[in-house]
Amino acid sequence: MKTFLEEVNERIGGVPIQRCYHCRKCTAGCPLAFAMEYNPNRVIKMIQMGMKDEVLNSSTIWLCASCETCITRCPNEVDIARMMDVLREMAIREGRTVKEKNILAFHQAFLNSIRSRGRINEPFMMVDYKLKSGDLFSDMGLGINMFMKGKLALISPKTRDLGAVKTIFEKTRNL
Ligand code: SF4
Ligand code: SF4
Repeated sequence: MKTFLEEVNERIGGVPIQRCYHCRKCTAGCPLAFAMEYNPNRVIKMIQMGMKDEVLNSSTIWLCASCETCITRCPNEVDIARMMDVLREMAIREGRTVKEKNILAFHQAFLNSIRSRGRINEPFMMVDYKLKSGDLFSDMGLGINMFMKGKLALISPKTRDLGAVKTIFEKTRNL
C-alpha cells in the first residue's frame, strides 16, 4: 500500500515534494498564509510525516488561491499550488468534511458553468453559488449595482465546441 507521501507525489506528477528543504520562502510570499491553519511548507512536512487526516481535513487546502507565488519563489521548484489541488481532489474523493464549504460551493458553481456553457456566465454562476452556499442576500446590493452598470451580461455566448468540453469532463472524471 502506498504511503500518503507516495500518493501525493504520484498525483502531482512533477518534482517530488521531498525536495523541499523548508527554507520557508513559499510561506513568506504566500498572500494567504496569514489565514491558513498550517502554512504551505508545514503542509509539506505533515505529508512527509504521513499526517493524512490532519492535512485532508484542514482548511488550508481550501484557502490556497492557486496564485503560484510559492512555486515562483521556491529554489527547488516544488509545485505547492498543484499539491493543494491534489489534496483538494483527494479530500473530495474520500468524502472528507470540507471546512471551507463556501469555497467548495464556489468551485462547484465555476465548474458547472464551464460544463454547461464552455465558459463562465457570471449571473448563472452567481445564482448557482448563492443557492449552494445558502448566502442569498449578503451582497445583493453589489450585484444589482454591477448589473445596472452593465458589468454582468445576462446572456453570454456558449463556446463553439461544447462537445470537446464535455469530453474533457468525462476524461477527468475517470482519472
Ligand atoms: S520554498 Fe520550496 S524548498 Fe523552501 S520551504 Fe517552500 S517548498 Fe520548501
Ligand atoms: S498558490 Fe496557494 S500556497 Fe502558493 S502562494 Fe498562492 S495561495 Fe499560497
